[in-house]
Amino acid sequence: MAADAGKLNTFPVFMRVEDRTVVIVGGGEEALAKARLVAQCTARIRLVAEQPASELAAFARRFDAEFITEPYRDAHLDGAVLVFAATGDEAADGRIVADARLRKIPVNAVDRPQICDFLTPAIVNRAPVAVAIGTEGAGPVLAQMIRARIDRMLSPALGPLARMAAAYRDAVERLLPRGSVRRRFWRDFFEGEPARLMEIGHISEAQEAAERLLHQETAQRGHVALVGAGPGAEDLLTLRAQRLLMLADVILFDALVPEAVVEMGRRDAERVAVGKRKGCHSKSQAEINAMLVAYGEAGKRVVRLKSGDPLVFGRAGEEMQALRDAGIDYEVVPGVTAAFAAAADFELPLTLRGVTSSMVFTTGHDLKGNTLPDWARLAISGATVAVYMGRSVAAEVAGRLIASGLSSDTSVAVVENASLSGRRLYHGTLADLPALQDRADLTGPVMTIIGDAVAGANFDRSTPLAARRTAAMAA
Ligand code: SAH
Repeated sequence: MAADAGKLNTFPVFMRVEDRTVVIVGGGEEALAKARLVAQCTARIRLVAEQPASELAAFARRFDAEFITEPYRDAHLDGAVLVFAATGDEAADGRIVADARLRKIPVNAVDRPQICDFLTPAIVNRAPVAVAIGTEGAGPVLAQMIRARIDRMLSPALGPLARMAAAYRDAVERLLPRGSVRRRFWRDFFEGEPARLMEIGHISEAQEAAERLLHQETAQRGHVALVGAGPGAEDLLTLRAQRLLMLADVILFDALVPEAVVEMGRRDAERVAVGKRKGCHSKSQAEINAMLVAYGEAGKRVVRLKSGDPLVFGRAGEEMQALRDAGIDYEVVPGVTAAFAAAADFELPLTLRGVTSSMVFTTGHDLKGNTLPDWARLAISGATVAVYMGRSVAAEVAGRLIASGLSSDTSVAVVENASLSGRRLYHGTLADLPALQDRADLTGPVMTIIGDAVAGANFDRSTPLAARRTAAMAA
């Protein structure tokens, strides 16, 4: 007993009744009271009363309730989500409760708490806000007193204000960073100008005030979007990326991002090339982080364009950390990563039923050490491996994979300039891969895909990776 002190025997919930039926059985005062309570919701009400009081009939007309003036039958409960037994007769109520239970419909018998599945609270209604007060039968009078007190506390304008808040929720989540900024907005919304104007019934002015509040919050702080520009073809850009580009004050872009995508930005946006093309001067990662933070603090809307997907070998982790540390709002917009574009160019299934069910995104550079990286083991167990930045280490990659047991016959597909009109496709085996390193004719970005699934690619438009070897074989 003592252990349960402070615990409720009932669990309060808000049940969905919109477009669902609530049945009230009984023709007198109690039935009418329950009907009035339920009529505060959008439930469909079905009244069953053999001898209804005239007020009940009037209620049914006014609230367009289904009104059945027959002796009660269990079929009257069909399709109900809640049932009230309010006949005033113990035996009759008991039968309704039993019928409802058979149908697994929660049931309430008025003034008979022992046989109720649920109890009805006293309600303060400021739809969509509701306060429900329960006392577990300790005192309906107590519940009404509390109800009256809360009713006085809550402005009648709370309902419309809450509805307006619901309409702003999406915009706020999109535009304001989580945490203190968002909390401040909502506090000002519910206690400041919008609430005051709503209170005196100036609805459109309240809306304008909410609008101003949102602008004020968004104008103060900048916003950085780390945006995937895709593999190069501008029509592989996402619609979200395009929308953000058109709103941007500043666009920072990497060398691999095509000119056409950068051009899609707002006409008077500031455009900053930050790197990293071989031979050209480019900014260090620390400099880029600092620039993002500085623009954000100056209240700019920044689009940081990265080739492919920003979270794949894009050093987005460091940029996000810097933005978080500086408290600047940011979002990430995914893009089509180079491996997917390369696979599409080759019509190559990256996963293939019965052949391979996993894939690895890796860079050749971690093969320099003495220990074999995890992904090499995955390659051996059949994963499709996409190697980013793999050209200058092609021989190393091939050698290490073969040495650790991957067959030198394993298929390899190589794409230069995936998705672009100037793309070139090569195919071969792991044994041919070292040749990639010596091909001076490849100047664009190169994606290498290795694995048994590659054998299923379409090689119609590709040429052999290592010409000499193939020629020797043909001879
Ligand atoms: N974030 C990018 C990867 C950046 S690392 C993405 O998700 O795609 C840069 C490497 O990506 C290049 O060295 C190359 O291996 C690969 N790459 C990028 N664009 C490519 C393209 N159009 N064709 C082939 N490889 C590409």
